Amino acid sequence: MSHDADEQLARQLQEEENRAAGQGQVLPPSMLGSMQDGLQCARRCEDELVQAMAFSVLPMEQLQAQASEAVEVSSAMGEDPAVALPDALAETLLAWFKLSFFSWVDKLPCERCGNGNTQNVGIETLRPGAPNCSFPPRSEELQGGAQRVELYRCDHCVPAHISRFPRYNDPQALLDSRKGRCGEWAKCFGLCCRAAGLDVRWIYDMSDHTWVEYYSSAMGRWLHMDPCEAAYDKPLLYEQGWGKKLHDVIACHHLGLYDLAAYPGKQSGAADWRQQRGETGASSAAPAKAPATRYVKAHDERVASDRPDRLRGGFVRASGENKPHEGVAKVADGNPHSKWLDFGGANGRETWLEYSLSQQATPVTVTSFELTSANDFPERDPRDFVLEGSTSTADGWRHLAAANNASFLGRHATLSFDVSSSQPCRRWRLRITALRDNSAANCVQLSGFALFAKPAAPNQSPAKISEQRQGLEQEGRWRRAALLSR
Ligand SMILES: [Zn+2]
Repeated sequence: MSHDADEQLARQLQEEENRAAGQGQVLPPSMLGSMQDGLQCARRCEDELVQAMAFSVLPMEQLQAQASEAVEVSSAMGEDPAVALPDALAETLLAWFKLSFFSWVDKLPCERCGNGNTQNVGIETLRPGAPNCSFPPRSEELQGGAQRVELYRCDHCVPAHISRFPRYNDPQALLDSRKGRCGEWAKCFGLCCRAAGLDVRWIYDMSDHTWVEYYSSAMGRWLHMDPCEAAYDKPLLYEQGWGKKLHDVIACHHLGLYDLAAYPGKQSGAADWRQQRGETGASSAAPAKAPATRYVKAHDERVASDRPDRLRGGFVRASGENKPHEGVAKVADGNPHSKWLDFGGANGRETWLEYSLSQQATPVTVTSFELTSANDFPERDPRDFVLEGSTSTADGWRHLAAANNASFLGRHATLSFDVSSSQPCRRWRLRITALRDNSAANCVQLSGFALFAKPAAPNQSPAKISEQRQGLEQEGRWRRAALLSR
C-alpha cells in the first residue's frame, strides 16, 4: 500500500473512532481490526495490476456465454424485469468460484503425502514484535500479508511432517493459494468481481462471518453474495437459515466504510426491503410476491428417452432451489442421480415446478407426465400434486390433472400419470400441495419431471413436416439406388 493510501486509511479509521466516541460508543478492538482489514482489501482490489492478475484466472469467455444465455432466456420467456447482464455475470461468477476455483479448509491435508487426517499443532504469529517462530516464515507468507500461520502435523510421514497454512490477507496471494475460510473466500471472490468489472464491497459481521455485496444498477441496490455458500441475493441466510443473530454489520468499500445497523438480512429491520424480495410472510401491506427462480434452459435436447414424444428444448423454473448443486435445471437433465431440491416446500407449504416451451412455440397437448424420486429421504417425495397448464405468462393457470397419495416404489423410481385434458399449452406447472411426510421433511425434492405430448398433428406446421418427409424419402431413395447399383 502506498504512503498516501496508508494515510487515507488512518484518517478514515480515526474519523470512525471519533464518530463512535461522539455517539458515546467505544469501538471494540475486533471491529477496528475488521474495518482496517476490509478497507485494506478494498483498496488493494483497486490496484490495476492486481485486477489484471485476477482477470487472467477468470474463464471470461465461458462466464460471459453463460451470462448471455441467462439474459436471452429471461427476455425470451418475458420475465419482468428481465435479468440484466451484469447481474447474470455476478451469479455465474459466484457459481464458478464456488464449484471450480476456491476450496474450504477445516484442517490442512499433509502437503507431502496428502493425508487428510492431520493434527493442528499450533499457530505462529508473523506480526512484528510477536515471539519468535519455531520455523522461519517463508517469503511468500510475508509477501501475501499472512499474519498467522496454522501448523498441521502429519504422523503418516516419517519423520512427522509439518504443513503450513498461512492465513493470507492479500487477495492477490489468494489467487494462487485458492483456499481458506470465509475471510479468504470473500477477499478473493471480491477481487474476481472487481476484475470482471463489478462494483463490490466486503461485509463484516462482528459475530464472525464475512461476505460480499455487489451493486446492481439494474435493481438499484446492493445485492448479497456469499461465495462459501454460492448464495446469491439471500441476505436472510444467516438469521433465518443459520439461526444466528447479526450485530454490528459493517460494509467496506474502497470509497469508505458504512455502518449497516439496519442490514437487510437482519430480521429486526427493513421489513419493506424483505417484502419486496418476497422474503416475509403475511404482512399488513401488499402481499409478498412468491419467490421463484429465474427460467433456465432445460438442456434436455439430448436426454436419453425411449419416448420420442417427450417434450424437449424448453425452460424450467421453480418456487425455489438449492444452488449450486441442486438447482432447478437438474430436474430436466435426464440423470436420476442428480436432483432439484427446494427448502420452501416443507412443512405443508406449497411448492411448484414449471416446464415451459418458448413463447413462440405451437401450443401442445400433454397426454402424460412422469416424476422420478430422488436418491434419499422418501419423506421429501411429492404425494399430492396438481398439473396445471397455460399458454403464456400473461395467462392464468388451468387445471389439467391431479394426483393424491402418490407413492414411489423406491429411490430413483419413476411414476407416470395420464392427463385427460386436451387443452393445448405452452407452460405446465406441477403444484405440489403435500409431501410423503410433511412433518418429517425439511424440503421437497425430485430427480425428474418429464412431459409427453401427442405426436404433432400434421397441420401444425405443414410446410416443414412435408419438407422433412420429402427429404427423408429422397434420402431413402438414394440409399436404395446406391444399394441397387452395387
Ligand atoms: Zn504426510
